[in-house]
Parts: sequence; C-alpha cells; structure tokens
Amino acid sequence: MNPLDRLTDLFERFPGIGPRQARRFVQFLLAEQAGFRSDLAESIRHLGTETAQCKKCFRWFVKNEEERGLCTICGNPKREAATLFVVEKDADIENVEHSGFRGLYFVLGGTIPLASEQPERHVRMHELLRRIETDASALELNELILGLSATSEGDHTRLILQEKIRPISEGLNFKVSSLGRGLSTGSELEYADPDTIASALSSRN
Ligand SMILES: [Zn+2]
Repeated sequence: MNPLDRLTDLFERFPGIGPRQARRFVQFLLAEQAGFRSDLAESIRHLGTETAQCKKCFRWFVKNEEERGLCTICGNPKREAATLFVVEKDADIENVEHSGFRGLYFVLGGTIPLASEQPERHVRMHELLRRIETDASALELNELILGLSATSEGDHTRLILQEKIRPISEGLNFKVSSLGRGLSTGSELEYADPDTIASALSSRN
C-alpha cells in the first residue's frame, strides 16, 4: 500500500473520523514542515513508552507520576475510598475532578452497544465486578455511582451494570446510584461543565 493510503487508513481508525477527514489530515501533513511530522511521530512513539495504565482505575497516566503502579488519584491516601465513580472514559475524569468530587474512579472503557449479545466484550465488566467485590468485602465501599452518558447506549449500559451489580450490592451492602437531573438528554460527561456535574452529583439517586 502506498504511504498516502496507509496513513489515511490509520487516521480512519480514530473515533469519529471518516475517509474524507482522514485524507484531509494526510494532505495537511504533506503541506507541513518536516519538523512537524517528526515531532508528531516522536510524540506518538513516546506515548507508548512514557505512559502506563493504572492497575486500579485503568486510566492512562504519565509514568513519572507513578505511585506503586497507581495513578495520582488512586495513589492518594486522602481520597475518599468509600465512593467509587464509574466513568466511560479517561476524559470524563478531568471534568468530574473540577466538580469537586473527592472519591475514587473506575474507567469502564466505553459503553455497551444496544444489540450486543456479549456485553462484557465492550467494557471492563469483569474488572469492575472484581473491583467492587474486593472493595466492598474490605468494607471500603459505601456507594457506587454510575456516571454514564444520558444517551440510549449510556442508559442501556447502566441497566446491564445495575443487573450485574445487584447481587453483589445486596450481599455486601453498599448503595448503587446514578447521576440525577442536570445532565441533559444526549449529553456526555466529557462535554458537561463542572457546575452541571456537581448538580447532577448532588441530585443523584
Ligand atoms: Zn488510578
């Protein structure tokens, strides 16, 4: 495959990027200075070697911030371990942090498509169930907050998770809540402002 098609194919794998946009990125890179292209290539290479995925919440962080394989949030003893906030993706955490939340997180890694017959293939379902079982058995968990998008796929994912979590929460006695009003229909945490998230958190049920 020629380098133009090869790079176009790679860009097409990015979320929300179609063939025409992918081709535009390639044209943009062709018009840029060689220095920009090598900076970009090097940054991508470093992404693999200088970052790590947190063992506990699964978010990506820069290795020099590491604390025993944990990110700065999970490694911080001052965080309130009794409240666990489940988010879809890494980008959601930043916004929730600005809303003043001081508990811990778990990154689900996406949502479950409506027609999927194997929901656990799309998100970190097993890892989440194991995490809450461990935390709740150690009496460290009082509340699990499901912070999914107000979209049909987010609702679908929440229902499946609630069903899987129910037997554990009944046995180990912790509360499972969801974000309340405030997040408008169709909105994702990543794009919600901190005040909206704070109000959705305070009206959780
Ligand atoms: Zn972490």
